[in-house]
Amino acid sequence: MDYRGRFAPSPTGLLHFGSLVAALGSWLRAREAGGRWLLRMEDIDPPREVPGAAAAILAALPAFGFTADEPVLHQSQRQAAYDAAFARLRAIDAVFPCWCSRSELAAMGELHRDGRCVAPPDPRREPAWRLRAPDVEIAFDDIVQGPQRQNLRESAGDFVIRRVEGLYSYQLACVVDDAHQGITEVVRGCDLLDSTPRQIHLQRLLDLPTPRYLHLPLALDGAGHKLSKSAQAWPVDPADPLPALRRALAFLGQPVPAEAADAPTLLAAALSRFDPALVPKRGGCFAG
Ligand code: GLU
Repeated sequence: MDYRGRFAPSPTGLLHFGSLVAALGSWLRAREAGGRWLLRMEDIDPPREVPGAAAAILAALPAFGFTADEPVLHQSQRQAAYDAAFARLRAIDAVFPCWCSRSELAAMGELHRDGRCVAPPDPRREPAWRLRAPDVEIAFDDIVQGPQRQNLRESAGDFVIRRVEGLYSYQLACVVDDAHQGITEVVRGCDLLDSTPRQIHLQRLLDLPTPRYLHLPLALDGAGHKLSKSAQAWPVDPADPLPALRRALAFLGQPVPAEAADAPTLLAAALSRFDPALVPKRGGCFAG
């Protein structure tokens, strides 16, 4: 099967070092395989979106040498596909409406595991919709992180598929769009390693193929926290791309080319020496 990879930023801030690492890692894997590298703008969460961030990210990527092989997919345009997936989950009775309040959820230890809502239905309020988490182990082999397994019920619980405001969750949108874009390998930060079992479960319920997964080490700040776009941590400067690209290559354990006139030249040199076996595991990965 022809390789198809992707980079899927959320427009919650400017491109920062952590997202540059994910862009670089996914680009190197796709180019090494002679495959396609796609872009997806994950703009499904308007309350968290920073105005102008999507345009700024899309404008910055070419400055770092990254150009997508197909038109950018915007999740904000994909409502009908998510509605269809949600309708299918309802039809197979995989989801249930949930009116639990924050305090009721807190009393459950934040994880909802009953497979049904314990609060009385309230016709005046829209419910959230949760996916019933079965008591099963989902296992997969991550290309960098090695064998993973997670009991969905224990670790994720009945997770939200559609929020009270009617917005679909990242998990559902990601699964629907990875399949729509024909993604064969997902390369992303290790902060999403523990989302992968939920996504594999959704793929099975929706009869969608499961891609391979490669989770990159996570860039942490000095205090050991994830660099988050919302915190505006470590923005990278598209006007001066080489230093950030060099740092990102070093972060991925790759040899750093000494001389390069511009970003495309640096990337070409990095690609010729790219070795996925050198990518370190370390980072903020979930245990177990
Ligand atoms: N949009 C997510 C983020 O920016 C990444 C999603 C993914 O790669 O699956 O953290």
